[in-house]
Amino acid sequence: MSTARWQTMVILGAQWGDEGKGKVTDYYGSQADYVVRFQGGNNAGHTIVYRGQVLKLHLLPSGVLHKRCITVIGNGVVLDPRVLFEELAQLKKLGVVPRLMISERAHIIFPFHISMDDVSEGAFKKKNLAALSTKRGIWPTYADKMARVGVRVVDLLNRELFRRKFDLLYDVQLRKLRILYNFRGRLRPKEVIFQGYLKKGRRLKPYVADVSLALACAYEQGKRIIFEGAQGTMLDIDHGLYPYTTSSNTTVGGACTGAGVPPQQIERVVGVVKAYVSRVGGGYLPTELTDALGARIREIGQEYGTTTGRARRIGWLDLVQLRFAARVNGFTGLALTKVDTLNGFKAIKVCVAYRYKGKLVRDLPADLMVYEKCQPVYRVFPGWSGGYAHARTRAALPLPLRRYLTFIEREVGVPIDLISTGPGREATIIRR
Ligand code: GDP
Repeated sequence: MSTARWQTMVILGAQWGDEGKGKVTDYYGSQADYVVRFQGGNNAGHTIVYRGQVLKLHLLPSGVLHKRCITVIGNGVVLDPRVLFEELAQLKKLGVVPRLMISERAHIIFPFHISMDDVSEGAFKKKNLAALSTKRGIWPTYADKMARVGVRVVDLLNRELFRRKFDLLYDVQLRKLRILYNFRGRLRPKEVIFQGYLKKGRRLKPYVADVSLALACAYEQGKRIIFEGAQGTMLDIDHGLYPYTTSSNTTVGGACTGAGVPPQQIERVVGVVKAYVSRVGGGYLPTELTDALGARIREIGQEYGTTTGRARRIGWLDLVQLRFAARVNGFTGLALTKVDTLNGFKAIKVCVAYRYKGKLVRDLPADLMVYEKCQPVYRVFPGWSGGYAHARTRAALPLPLRRYLTFIEREVGVPIDLISTGPGREATIIRR
């Protein structure tokens, strides 16, 4: 894909998150008029270096630092206003005042959602199910949205409606906490939370908009729009490795429902793929490396969570998983990151299929007990070494690396549009 010819683009994690979406979004973001987040909440994490300062953003889209870019929080996001105000304050210190638009339909995270997240984890852990939570109140807020007792941004702007909705939500949550989870802690008094969030609503008001309508107008005017996914395909609540997932749709359909845009308006779908895999939380990882090799990749790649600091589990690239991601998302191109992390390894393995009870399996099984018995079938490639940090074309990359790239493209059936050979913006090779 040439860099110039696109109007709308969805950028998604093709694996378990932490693929380097931040860098890829930042790269394309410099050409965008809008960057939109459409799912998740402040459980995402981007590390951006701005004027020598390290900036950690969990909620705001990575486009905030591009001056001409309007950053958008779609209806599919769950919003913690306190985190939003903190991130805005961080940016203000750097002299950045983002042009921000927040959907009136996004749901609000309250302190009791965070308490729920906190106390429920023990119950899940005992049964060894569910991904480790970031304890930011994300899933309880989505659960309330689906139970239709949630409070949306627009509700905070209407005292009478907020009162009714809040009373119901607070009572429901309190009972759940006490009865289901045996919560004996103290919640802040109902009235204090109510008044506090009314006030937050007033602070949010200048940013609140009908995002779907605004994006439709922008599209009509030929503006360039990037939809920025958080987490990754395998964490999708429907298509991921349920229940080791997040609580929203991280796949391409999430961009339509989470921002209110029709699928015909989505031109490009870029799958961000790391040259190996990493994940946090539970669940089987067929290509996992629990040995010294895995530890070495973790150290070189600095695979520790941006939000939680947790060490990530590491494994070889899994093409069964990647083909699945390409099918569900309809990737038009891949962005392959962190090839430099694998510099200097004698052999690089790629999982091309699984073996289950003597048979080859090429598609992801939904049954977890079957999945857990799938053994990876590897193809081994000779490794590559460094010395290509300044390569600007694919032809300038070492031959073993080029062969690896071509193999991935052929197996997945999707071209690699972007190759990232280091964290910096300049360490990027684009297919012309
Ligand atoms: P995201 O959540 O998908 O944006 O991924 P993370 O932020 O968790 O991980 C990306 C990290 O890897 C950031 O610190 C990036 O600076 C870094 N990164 C991105 N691409 C590359 C690359 O090609 N090589 C190296 N060495 N680091 C990269």
